[in-house]
Amino acid sequence: MEIKFERYHLQSDFHSPLKGFESVSVPTEVRIDPLTKRRSRIITWSLPSKGKFDFSKMVEESRGCIFCPENVLLKTPTFLKEIAPEGRISIGKSVGFPNLFPAGTYGSVIVLGEEHFLNLHEFTPEIYVRGFSVASQIIQKTMSYDPNARFWQISQNFLLPGGSSILHPHLQVIGDPIPTNEMEWLLNGCSSYYERNKSLYWSDLVHAEKEIGERYIATFGKVHWFVSFAPIGATEICAVVEDHASLTTLGQEETSSLAKGIVSTLKYYYDQNLNSFNFAIYSFSGEASHQLLLRMISRTPIQPYYLNDWTSFEALQSELTSNFYPEVVCREIRPYFS
Ligand SMILES: [Zn+2]
Repeated sequence: MEIKFERYHLQSDFHSPLKGFESVSVPTEVRIDPLTKRRSRIITWSLPSKGKFDFSKMVEESRGCIFCPENVLLKTPTFLKEIAPEGRISIGKSVGFPNLFPAGTYGSVIVLGEEHFLNLHEFTPEIYVRGFSVASQIIQKTMSYDPNARFWQISQNFLLPGGSSILHPHLQVIGDPIPTNEMEWLLNGCSSYYERNKSLYWSDLVHAEKEIGERYIATFGKVHWFVSFAPIGATEICAVVEDHASLTTLGQEETSSLAKGIVSTLKYYYDQNLNSFNFAIYSFSGEASHQLLLRMISRTPIQPYYLNDWTSFEALQSELTSNFYPEVVCREIRPYFS
């Protein structure tokens, strides 16, 4: 098998004031992603947690937002009639509509429910099953109108560190005729891997991770959950769905399995005193060498004197620095998936 898990061990030696100026060695690990060859820097120290943040003031001050039930059907945009003549697409309490401030060709928002705010341990699988069902309908209806919109991201930005100004839980669904950088790297990597090996990269990776056993978390139906060897975000958890490359082809079982794993991950994040996160599902049509991929990361939590996790390493060297060791994350998160 071609998949290689390459790493460099770096070490910094100095006299530490924390140990009476004795000589100490602090290791750092640089890992190379087997598919994209991108480097990640795993740091072996971390700052202590500041505990859980009290959101009550923030929630009260922002209640009655544009996504709250009294506003969502009055103040949000509606789809072009050619895409969705009903205007907005609703399933249960989830409502999908065009983004008033889009960042691409087809940008939509899905309000996940009526609750203005949820702590991470309060999200349920049902919330995501409904949200993904709305997302699937948006993608299908849009592609019937414009088949060139093949490259889709279904994502969640939760709280300010995750890039969302609105607390009210929602998804973003964005479709374009051209891929993002990340999509192109994934698709190019997967197709050249297929040409060389005549097998699917993600299937082979899942097989390898299962054998190694240090980063593989669990299987729910056709959905495989694992921690990235070389993450591009903190506490990065991934899922791949066998036999699917697009969200639109998932059945009820696969959708439920994805939702269940997201909720398990959020419960783990909550217990780690994290409160902000992002995920993205990379969804394509007509890409036989790709499998539907979900990548989920935590962001530095909202807390007094907030510390951004995007340093000059990430911003200017394109290299993640993470204080979370992937194999430790895997050991800690496994019970949440049982
Ligand atoms: Zn609201």
